[in-house]
Amino acid sequence: MSDTKPVWIRDPLAILADGAERGIVVQEGRIIELVPAGGAPASADVAAFDASDHVVLPGLINTHHHFYQTLTRALPAAMDRELFPWLQALYPVWAKLTPESLELGVTVAMSELLLSGCTTTTDHHYVFPAGLEESVDIEVGVAKRLGMRALLTRGSMNLSQRDGGLPPDSVVQDEDTILGDSARVVAKHHQRGADAMVQIALAPCSPFSVTTSLMRATADLADKLDVRLHTHLAETEDENRFCQQMYGCRPLDYLESCGWLNARTWLAHGIFFNADEMKRLGKAKTTISHCACSNQLLASGCCPVCEMEEAGVGIGIGVDGSASNDGSNLMQEVRAAFLLQRARYGVTKVSHRDALRWATKGSAACVGRPELGEIAVGKAADLALFRLDELRFSGHGDPLAALVLCGAHRADRVMVAGKWTVIDGAIPGLDVADLIRRHSAAARAMHAG
Ligand SMILES: [Zn+2]
Repeated sequence: MSDTKPVWIRDPLAILADGAERGIVVQEGRIIELVPAGGAPASADVAAFDASDHVVLPGLINTHHHFYQTLTRALPAAMDRELFPWLQALYPVWAKLTPESLELGVTVAMSELLLSGCTTTTDHHYVFPAGLEESVDIEVGVAKRLGMRALLTRGSMNLSQRDGGLPPDSVVQDEDTILGDSARVVAKHHQRGADAMVQIALAPCSPFSVTTSLMRATADLADKLDVRLHTHLAETEDENRFCQQMYGCRPLDYLESCGWLNARTWLAHGIFFNADEMKRLGKAKTTISHCACSNQLLASGCCPVCEMEEAGVGIGIGVDGSASNDGSNLMQEVRAAFLLQRARYGVTKVSHRDALRWATKGSAACVGRPELGEIAVGKAADLALFRLDELRFSGHGDPLAALVLCGAHRADRVMVAGKWTVIDGAIPGLDVADLIRRHSAAARAMHAG
């Protein structure tokens, strides 16, 4: 495929767009034309890709993850625990991360995501033991190698057990180091504009692992550098109690007092907001990453997605870290969110289209990228194409609904910025068997002792 010649994704079996029954035309990383029923592309000089066996979605967008956690999946020492004791079991294991194991963990997570139809992902990397000062740089390298769009966050923790926080000293840094490195990675890696492939956001981990001083200073720095802000909030009752005891208020009041309640911020989880807090979030245009699998696995609770949307709060989807999911499959996460929210709100309030909307347009708002998450003229040529020739889809009556209801989990083709990054269900050039071998060995070394 030439970089400049338009490509017609022709005659899809189904497509998540109106007026594109005969497909779409992409060129130089953008969607330049929708081809309606009975129509043809404006120019005859196009390369055609036959999509008649494919369901075409806008590329899915993952709004919350911790890539390094692929190294600690299904770890017996942390299993069957709620968030705080789960974290306390895992911090000492994560303290053993090395640049080599991190790179393998990131490669596994991003590959899993890509193969599940994800074209843009965030990552919240907040563990910086000695020797891992260049974690964000490592992540940028992997994103570029795989051709994936990424909003990588410079996470942080500086409130250790010594000062009343949850993490041990071995995984925290001091405020000056954190702020200095935050400015460094933004200057070095953050791209601006609608075609950006790599962006950086700032992301103190949570109220129970970061000082108020760092929360405030990070908000000021994000404002100055014009980058987004991210953290975990309202995930568990433990966190509510911690905020009451430590700060004398609820998590959202605390967040607001730190200068974070604004459109720059997207929050992971958002389970325990009351009606007044939802209104304040909606008014501030702060958005929420809903992590259905993680919330169920850790028994944290259920994000009140419909009430949030009624209050004007934007909802995206996140797989969360692979130690609390324990996978990085965004298409499966769409199904998990659909089922969880349907169980909560009933069959008339939540449809498969809602879940797909959260993972596309909704997630695009979380990452501050309105040019992503939608099949429309002028939007990015980020697409996920699924075939329905597996046993699980046999007998379906609606191709688009079948993706969610029958449990699609693997894209056949993925396009990012007009380039195929997944072909025939595989990432060109990636030796998966070798990656699994090396990643598993790195994980075993961390689990030992
Ligand atoms: Zn998380």
